Amino acid sequence: MALIELLDMRKSFRMGGKEMEILHGVSLSAERGEFIAMMGPSGSGKSTTMNILGCLDTPTSGKYILDGRDVDSLDGDELATVRNVMIGFVFQGFNLLQRTSALANVEMPMLYSGVGARERRRRAAEALERVGLADRMDHDPSRLSGGQQQRVAIARGIVNKAPILMADEPTGNLDTRTSEEIMALFQELNAKEGITIVLVTHEASVAAHAKRILHFRDGVITSDEPNAIARGGDAA
Ligand code: ADP
Ligand code: MG
Repeated sequence: MALIELLDMRKSFRMGGKEMEILHGVSLSAERGEFIAMMGPSGSGKSTTMNILGCLDTPTSGKYILDGRDVDSLDGDELATVRNVMIGFVFQGFNLLQRTSALANVEMPMLYSGVGARERRRRAAEALERVGLADRMDHDPSRLSGGQQQRVAIARGIVNKAPILMADEPTGNLDTRTSEEIMALFQELNAKEGITIVLVTHEASVAAHAKRILHFRDGVITSDEPNAIARGGDAA
């Protein structure tokens, strides 16, 4: 069974009293262990699709089956639980709490899951080790570079051991070299830990790290291809 199954998804927004359809029937099936890049021009519907895949927003019509569960049938609490267990998020602007250590930032997703303080610290420290920041745990974001801040955000995204990591333009605020380092980290998490990655980018050099590339245009998927030239991993 597919991990992600999106069937003929449509999304409309109400604007100025008028219903505007933004996504016009998007279908997508993804298995565990995939690394997918969603590309396309600004406004083509990438973030809207990712928000629905991440259970942050709901489609106007169509079906979304996440790990065998019809997302539409879940109530608010169930949805929050599924999201917490299944999905980690990474954002363009890192979205870290300032004046709060890297460790405390990474502990955030566990605050409401009943994990005790000691165990929270242990898991957060382990996640920071997994992203190569073992020596920066006590640093506030203001004392970290952009690339290090994004590593903290990635640690926060994987700390619950969710099988899926979703990232919307995760390298959008980073220079080319740092972007490459962050993409290498995503590749490592995908290859070594089997984390399923779905990432939005409008840069071909970033998408080149994925194993599968989707192109969006005007609210539809116009192509969905394996990436023959995926760098790193076994293709290198
Ligand atoms: P992308 O991420 O590919 O740049 P988005 O998914 O953010 O595109 O947006 C697709 C279209 O939907 C755009 O035209 C955008 O203005 C519109 N849109 C996105 N979110 C909303 C919203 N909450 N209300 C109204 N329109 C929206
Ligand atoms: Mg976007």
